[in-house]
Amino acid sequence: MAIWSCISRCGACCHLDPAERPDLDKYLSASELQLYLSMVGKDGWCINFEPGTRTCKIYAERPRFCRVAPEVFRDLYDIAPAELNDFAIACCEQQIDGVYGETSLEKLQFERTIAGSN
Ligand code: SF4
Ligand code: SF4
Repeated sequence: MAIWSCISRCGACCHLDPAERPDLDKYLSASELQLYLSMVGKDGWCINFEPGTRTCKIYAERPRFCRVAPEVFRDLYDIAPAELNDFAIACCEQQIDGVYGETSLEKLQFERTIAGSN
C-alpha cells in the first residue's frame, strides 16, 4: 500500500495560483481565503516559497491550510482520518502533474517514495 509522504525539493503545493484552484471559497473561511490570496505572488507561487531550495520560509508558522494533518483535512475537506492517506496522495499527484508534469522527475520521485522504493 502506498503511504503518503512529502518529498524534499518539490513544493508543487506552494504554487497557489487561484485560477487553478477554483473551489477555494468552498473550503477556506473568509479570513483564510484573504490570507491565501495575500500570499499569491505575481508568478502564481507563494511569496513565502524559496525557489532555490524549494522550501518554505515560514515553515514553522505556515497557515493551517498548508498542513497535511488529520484535523486540517477533516475541517477543510470533510475527509475522515482513514481517508487522509489516499486523499493526500491524490492531492500531491494532481499538484505535481500540474506544476512539473506527469513525467517529471518530481512525479517519479514522489511515486517511488510513497511506494517505499526510494
Ligand atoms: S506537492 Fe506533496 S510532495 Fe510536493 S511539496 Fe507539496 S506536500 Fe510535499
Ligand atoms: S506558506 Fe509555505 S508551505 Fe504554505 S504555500 Fe507558502 S511556501 Fe508553501
